[in-house]
Amino acid sequence: MSLLVKGAKVIDVKQNINDYLDVFVKKGKIVDIKKNISAPKTTKVLEAKGKILTAGLIDMHTHLREPGREDEETFFTASKAALKGGFTSLVAMANTEPPADNQGVIEFVYSKSKKESPVNIFCIGAVTRSLKGENLADLADLKKAGAVAFSDDGHCVKDSQIARMAFEYAKMLNMVIISHCEDTDLSAGACVNEGWTSTKLGFRGIPAQSESIMVARDIQLAKLTGARVHFAHVSCRESVDLIREAKKEKIAVTCETCPHYFTFSDEVINTFNTNFKVKPPLRNSKDIKAIKRGLADGTIDCIVTDHAPHTEAEKDVEFEYAPFGMIGLETALGISIRELVGTKVLTLEDLIKKFTVAPAIILNLKKGSLEIGSDADITIFESETKWTFTKKDIESKSKNSPFIGEELVGRVSEVIIGGKLFLKRGVLSGA
Ligand SMILES: [Zn+2]
Repeated sequence: MSLLVKGAKVIDVKQNINDYLDVFVKKGKIVDIKKNISAPKTTKVLEAKGKILTAGLIDMHTHLREPGREDEETFFTASKAALKGGFTSLVAMANTEPPADNQGVIEFVYSKSKKESPVNIFCIGAVTRSLKGENLADLADLKKAGAVAFSDDGHCVKDSQIARMAFEYAKMLNMVIISHCEDTDLSAGACVNEGWTSTKLGFRGIPAQSESIMVARDIQLAKLTGARVHFAHVSCRESVDLIREAKKEKIAVTCETCPHYFTFSDEVINTFNTNFKVKPPLRNSKDIKAIKRGLADGTIDCIVTDHAPHTEAEKDVEFEYAPFGMIGLETALGISIRELVGTKVLTLEDLIKKFTVAPAIILNLKKGSLEIGSDADITIFESETKWTFTKKDIESKSKNSPFIGEELVGRVSEVIIGGKLFLKRGVLSGA
């Protein structure tokens, strides 16, 4: 099976490519990239004139809910949502039921997802047993089973000694720790950002310092141990400033943010739409500016979804009782282009880097670039098409998106994984 994609504007940050080129794919691999490739007659030809072609997008922070909460999401439904959003690789967080704190769960994730999801699924192993923050999981075993990073995401490893030990082991194993930064004493019982909106509405607030205090601690522990630490879902100015300084000091830290943190301020809570309830919470306009500055100057390495499916029944309750989290696979690219490229915070090239090369480097994945010989994982999209996202566009099993009704800029048209076409003209196909 061979495939020739013709005439797209190819952007590959790792190889410094930004040009109108043809891409030739054979036996699941990238075989050639240049102008005017002529292929044998049996080759399938895909015209992609006027579109952007990049290495398949990677979401390094998703909650797939399998095993345990298949009523919210499954490998199969998440993969459909991923394809619609242009993602060819998903990295699954460990907070499933049971959590990925042992080899059995990680092996289950790899074997079942391989059968049911055309999208590559990578698994993160837990830092501590049952994500309780008390006893370290057997990190070497988790790595052996295929874990690509360690994280208790959803929970903070509160005990600094446990965190230090985890960092030491991670360093020994040459693995990255993904840190969910939350001082739970400061966030206890609260569900929105601490500020004018929380006061007005009578909600207890979560101060930015609930996040930044733990960011500061983990920067210090990274300095102490020499471990690589990646900060999950950075939401506030204080964290961005700390990480910028740590990078200047050459401490091995990286970080991510999510589209909602540079799109919405906490004022949207006025609507009481529970799909705006996320952790960390949506912050204020100064934080949004700081996040954008961090993205622009490279302090924030990548953009992730923190895709967190919840059923309608779970979210259809009073704001205080709703679970934290929103879905994001289908909207991440379109919102990011609208908010960052449209406003000249980032070039399209810089944006693509944050969805491809950057997560691949952090997690040591052989993905994120179209180098000759690499897996033919490709995303093709129109970068300027404006369209309105509706509930009908959601392939995820859960529909908890605050982006319903929003205008997105850029639409994914084709997704190729391992040389096979799984999305064509925006429609899912069986390859
Ligand atoms: Zn988290």
